[in-house]
Amino acid sequence: MKIAVIGAGISGLVCAKHLVAGGQEVTVLEKSRSLGGRCATRKFGEHIVDTGAQYFTLRDPVLRKEIGSVAGAQLKTISLPILISGKMGEVYRESEERFYIGNGNNRLGAMLSDGLEIRKEVEVGVVTPVGKEWEVAGDRYDVIVCSAPWPQSAKILGGSQEGVGYEPNLTALLEYSGGWSGAVYAQIDPSGEDPLSWVACENAKVGRVADGSTVYVVQASVKYSRENLEKKPEEWVADLQSRFEKAYGVDATKRGRVMSHRWRYARREKSTGYPVDLPKGVYLCGDSQVDSRLESVWRSGKETAEKILGSKA
Ligand SMILES: Cc1cc2nc3c(=O)[nH]c(=O)nc-3n(C[C@H](O)[C@H](O)[C@H](O)COP(=O)(O)OP(=O)(O)OC[C@H]3O[C@@H](n4cnc5c(N)ncnc54)[C@H](O)[C@@H]3O)c2cc1C
Repeated sequence: MKIAVIGAGISGLVCAKHLVAGGQEVTVLEKSRSLGGRCATRKFGEHIVDTGAQYFTLRDPVLRKEIGSVAGAQLKTISLPILISGKMGEVYRESEERFYIGNGNNRLGAMLSDGLEIRKEVEVGVVTPVGKEWEVAGDRYDVIVCSAPWPQSAKILGGSQEGVGYEPNLTALLEYSGGWSGAVYAQIDPSGEDPLSWVACENAKVGRVADGSTVYVVQASVKYSRENLEKKPEEWVADLQSRFEKAYGVDATKRGRVMSHRWRYARREKSTGYPVDLPKGVYLCGDSQVDSRLESVWRSGKETAEKILGSKA
């Protein structure tokens, strides 16, 4: 079969890899220049900072082995605690191991891309059926796999986006001069009431932050992100920064660089539905199918490939 996988995030790349291993002819089409999708990392001055998935769990031993064999020695653990706001001292899932990729979480995308045919900077518009085939970005395929968040996949399929919701996220990267205490990795506010829902110190990831600096990743709550999504980034970044400094007692005179990222579709809403009634020859993978966790979308890519391979057995 000739198969187009739309999107080079983790789920699409895992799916493509399994399809190729199953003997299929696969092309991955990715709208951006980079691989990994929301498993995203940026160069921030001299630092390397994760702007999407911050860390991941590997609860399933099979997946742990698979990701371990792809990432090798770059698979690292964060041993420092994550605190819950308002309950200082309480450790979030104390026993759970948290992983990251040493040279940037997005490197997982690059590692997975080895041996795949990937066309970058190809934004797929609406796909059209032609007989039993699908026309995608000027070529014909027997099967297509959409791995993007459902609102984007629905657009590609020319159908309704209703029924599956996504939460936006506004993220600020904040650099300060001076050292870091080294006691805690991050703090969360699970209530969603505090505009600062996630504050993490990237220094906890070994080798990411240059000596003499501290870099924080601040993610706004869903409510705050929705209210400020269409505003100019400089407005909400300045607001998040002053809230952060006040709440964490950080000295504003030590400010360095600032960067922002707006995720329109960050994670699927917790109690949302699943897409139904897909046309023949169209498959989905990623968090339109499962929860928005790296481990889950990896599994989803694999399961979608198995379904496609099984359908032709
Ligand atoms: C701010 C943030 C923090 C997060 N934190 C965590 C965390 O700590 N731990 C965790 O496990 N998970 C976390 N997640 C969730 C996790 O990052 C995602 O669930 C996962 O990366 C989704 O992978 P995916 O392959 O399903 O989709 P994506 O990574 O979104 O991949 C889809 C790809 O499709 C491409 N695409 C979209 N439309 C088109 C088109 N028309 N044509 C071509 N290409 C297209 C996109 O560019 C993208 O590369 C976080 C996400 C965000 C945004």
